[in-house]
Amino acid sequence: PGRADLLSVRGLGVHYGGVVAVDDVTFDVAGGTIVGLIGPNGAGKTTLLDAVSGFAEHTGTVVLDGRSLEDLAPHERVRAGLGRTFQALELYDDLSVEENVAVGLTASHGRRERPPEEALRRVFSLLDLASLRTRPAGELSQGQRQLVSIARALVGQPRVLLLDEPAGGLDTAESTWLGERLKVIRDSGVTIIMVDHDMGLVLSLCDEVRVLNFGKVIAAGTPAEIRADREVAAAYLGST
Ligand code: ATP
Repeated sequence: PGRADLLSVRGLGVHYGGVVAVDDVTFDVAGGTIVGLIGPNGAGKTTLLDAVSGFAEHTGTVVLDGRSLEDLAPHERVRAGLGRTFQALELYDDLSVEENVAVGLTASHGRRERPPEEALRRVFSLLDLASLRTRPAGELSQGQRQLVSIARALVGQPRVLLLDEPAGGLDTAESTWLGERLKVIRDSGVTIIMVDHDMGLVLSLCDEVRVLNFGKVIAAGTPAEIRADREVAAAYLGST
């Protein structure tokens, strides 16, 4: 329950040559919520995250808690309070969980001004990873690896966390566990926007859902409203 428009996206557009990957997308994200972004393959979900986080050149505006971010580079948007994960987790398999997560502090603060112990402890506790701190990332299950990548994005204390397919490669039990951890993160005060193909997870977990198709938002609402939406059903049937 924060302000109604913690993150505000207006007229966002991204094109790659002739392909319009994100087409005039507008939405607000209320503080303290989890917003799900779903849509068929190629709908523009990852590109939308890329635009918000500054990895894709875009038109339109991105405002976080009253501050315009559109002229900022990705690392500056991280410092302004936007954390994110990527579909390819890019963990260092030979490094410990703790070392992998500490990389995120360097990303958010540029350099370490004081030992990151307190920040590390906080995220390990939120994600229930404390017992794995010294394990090499290469020894972890896919579910644990997803949590480590989220911990890396969280350690810089973002206001808004953007997650790209956090349930990718997870089985049902792991995905349920992930959902529980994401609720704990939300309840700790971090607002979450997640892209995922696990419809069960998105519809059970998210407070609000936005559906993209061909770069446009074709539906927006609560999970119950999205379940009942005919255009959404048609978009999915049409894509497979
Ligand atoms: P998926 O669910 O399969 O991950 P998505 O909804 O995340 O798909 P995007 O990856 O954002 O979709 O792709 C949207 C469109 O933009 C697609 O047509 C894709 O081919 C195109 N696209 C994405 N990234 C690039 C790029 N770097 N260069 C050119 N075209 C791109």
